[in-house]
Amino acid sequence: AAAAASTTAGAPPPPSDASAATGEPEGGTFLEGVDANFRAASAHLRSVDPALLENIRRCNSTTEFAFPLKRDDGSITTLTGYRAVHSHHMTPSKGGIRYAPSVSRSEVEALACLMTLKCAVVEVPYGGAKGGVAINRGDYSPAEVERITRRFTSELYRRNLIGPAVDVPAPDFGTTAGDMAHIKDTYMQLEGGSMFGAAAVTGKPVSQGGIRGREEATGLGVYFGVREFLSNKTVATAAGLPTPWSIPASTFAIQGLGNVGYWAAHFIAKNGGRITTVGERDGTVSDPAGVDVEALKLHLTNNGGSVVGFANGGSPSLSVVADPAAVLSADVDVLIPAALEGAITTANAKAVRAKVVAEAANGPVTAGADVVLAAAGVVVLPDLVMNAGGVTVSYFEVAKNLAGLRFGRLTQRAEEAAMANLLATLQSHGVTITDRDRRRLIIGADERAHVYSGLEDSMCAACGETVKVAAELGVSLRIAAYFTAIRRVAETFESRGLWP
Ligand code: GLU
Repeated sequence: AAAAASTTAGAPPPPSDASAATGEPEGGTFLEGVDANFRAASAHLRSVDPALLENIRRCNSTTEFAFPLKRDDGSITTLTGYRAVHSHHMTPSKGGIRYAPSVSRSEVEALACLMTLKCAVVEVPYGGAKGGVAINRGDYSPAEVERITRRFTSELYRRNLIGPAVDVPAPDFGTTAGDMAHIKDTYMQLEGGSMFGAAAVTGKPVSQGGIRGREEATGLGVYFGVREFLSNKTVATAAGLPTPWSIPASTFAIQGLGNVGYWAAHFIAKNGGRITTVGERDGTVSDPAGVDVEALKLHLTNNGGSVVGFANGGSPSLSVVADPAAVLSADVDVLIPAALEGAITTANAKAVRAKVVAEAANGPVTAGADVVLAAAGVVVLPDLVMNAGGVTVSYFEVAKNLAGLRFGRLTQRAEEAAMANLLATLQSHGVTITDRDRRRLIIGADERAHVYSGLEDSMCAACGETVKVAAELGVSLRIAAYFTAIRRVAETFESRGLWP
């Protein structure tokens, strides 16, 4: 946070108490859980002034506004929107827009703090933010959702809470690339058609200045994160997994087949992993022989999001139960909660049978549940790293928009030939080419190839740093990720000073 408190200030700090550093007090909120993790990690930053750390922890500003919607039947309803800007240590601030009934001041503040920290973990040069509207999207027609999105955008605009140089929204739970197109268009109309206007929002369709690979970026990042963390001998051993560990030799359960969960499942399956359980809104499907996630996604789309009637290609070992929470106790190696915060709590953490919980969602494991899982030897791969792929590729999208860049001038064949030449030349000079060099050598053609290699490199670096810090400090991967992020944010303040 630090510097600037605009409209309304963030919530005052809760009284310090010992339980804050050790875990969630029973019934603690999402925001209290994030604060508890922040404080636990801060305790290891001995060289930084604790008052500065406290300032970094707090949300800079949270704006809440009421606005009207004219329904299709002519009636008027009043909706509540929010935008929390957690930190201005870098500009712009960045984070998604969520359409969900759970959206509240404290939810967007918790999510905005996670954005600041996740950007720092993958070295994306932005502050964190998050916003949303407290609605169940399914209650509104597409035309009504468009009016909500456009009015919400204008509410942000008049408060200087959107713009390439100010604050840049993106998709989140309940919003889509199509909504981002409406945000961009509304911004363009209000701004009078700036050439940089496309950079006011990310996750746009490619035709609107989006970047190839953004749609699947968070899920692909989850795949890279699982692969990198569990390929590490120390992490795999701590989880009781065999070493060397491999995706094809492992089983996975996914909670939520939305954008993040679907793409994570897609890439895991594509790389040989067996997804044996998927939990969705009205039930859990399990098949020890493997769930066909592409078929399930299609079934959900065609059946209003219901798993009922899914046949998994007629597999005799398929079972479908009406309990959406059954996925959490699936007997698998890796459980991937990819829906909303607070999925695994002190009430159900004991039922987790997976060896690893990979947090694709933001905050799916409460601070209290963290303690229970750790005691049971379950390793948690933390959200700050695991779902940072989305904002990483948003950063590439902004860079593309601001540079007015178009990828794809070389053909795939020309790129491959150029790459082979370059590698041969380097090798003839006795240069050893590592896998990392190879990832960085993608030079010419395909936009998606650029995005994938940049994302892979960012995820590998973040996972490696997190494992290293966890070992050095003797802390969990979560506290290590918080530590790295807070240290980086603190460094920006220490080097530039506070104004005035
Ligand atoms: N909403 C996503 C997240 O929670 C993406 C944010 C962004 O791309 O700005 O990380």
